[in-house]
Amino acid sequence: AKESGRGRFVRYEPDMDVDRQERNDMEVDLRRAIEMEALYVVYQPVIAAGGRRTIGVEALVRWDRPGHGPVSPDRFIPIAETTGLIDSLGLFVLRKACLEVLDWPGISIAVNISPGQFRNPAFTSNIQRVIQDSGIDPSRIVLEVTEGYFIQNPARARWTIAKLKQLGVKIALDDFGSGFSSVGYLRQFGFDRMKIDRSLVAALDESPTAGELLQATVSIARALGIPVTAEGIEKEEQAIALELCGCDELQGFYFGRPTSPEQILARLQNEGGK
Ligand code: C2E
Ligand code: CA
Ligand code: CA
Ligand code: CA
Repeated sequence: AKESGRGRFVRYEPDMDVDRQERNDMEVDLRRAIEMEALYVVYQPVIAAGGRRTIGVEALVRWDRPGHGPVSPDRFIPIAETTGLIDSLGLFVLRKACLEVLDWPGISIAVNISPGQFRNPAFTSNIQRVIQDSGIDPSRIVLEVTEGYFIQNPARARWTIAKLKQLGVKIALDDFGSGFSSVGYLRQFGFDRMKIDRSLVAALDESPTAGELLQATVSIARALGIPVTAEGIEKEEQAIALELCGCDELQGFYFGRPTSPEQILARLQNEGGK
């Protein structure tokens, strides 16, 4: 607070101004990065439970901001969301991922979709165009969405999911357990897959009830015929626990951090030779 006159105070919050300025600067730089296609995509392996082979990858966007170094997507995706940049950013990632995965036969590619993209009426036709242009088999694509949009606009969300399914892509409910989503959503919206949030996986270490809850959740999903992926696995004990719970797919730093396309290819070739 700043003193003005005698004993009167004017609220002055420098942090807020700095924050707003910083967001504006970031938006300018992000817009330029998208235009120049300076963003890139890294891939985290997705492993089959039991056999422990790489059966897919999740595409994750990266931005090395000039003069600042790498910026976390948790910071710049929300800015892209509020500034209308998310459509072009999302399409860039999808296009790039579809082209790169063509070199990796047989594995699936999961791509994150923001609520802002889902809301765009042109969304499904944009996806359709990327599929056609890249020549990818659409059944290899998994679109990962979080619950937010489904709560806000359930009727519209159901309609969009139905359209996407006609294109032959799969839809996963991401970050399950981090918010308010219930297993009821799986059937209600017709999800093809469920991804258990890493906070639930981490909770396994702390409480026995977490394990029981997880077991029950996975059982219901599987009873509905919906495969379950667990993410954020950082050690073997977690992997084993999740396999015992009945998870179908495993993902986390323990199996591999997000890496370049070259490293993914090397990994697949290495596994193929075994
Ligand atoms: P997400 O979709 O839940 O992605 C998983 C995040 O967890 C990634 O962070 C990944 O690097 C991290 N992770 C994976 N395994 C582990 C682990 O074992 N331990 C820990 N501590 N973390 C792990 P990242 O790449 O920083 O992405 C953060 C979030 O940003 C993503 O969360 C997603 O919501 C968003 N995001 C990333 N790329 C895109 C994109 O292309 N489009 C959209 N719309 N969102 C994206
Ligand atoms: Ca995801
Ligand atoms: Ca997730
Ligand atoms: Ca997330």
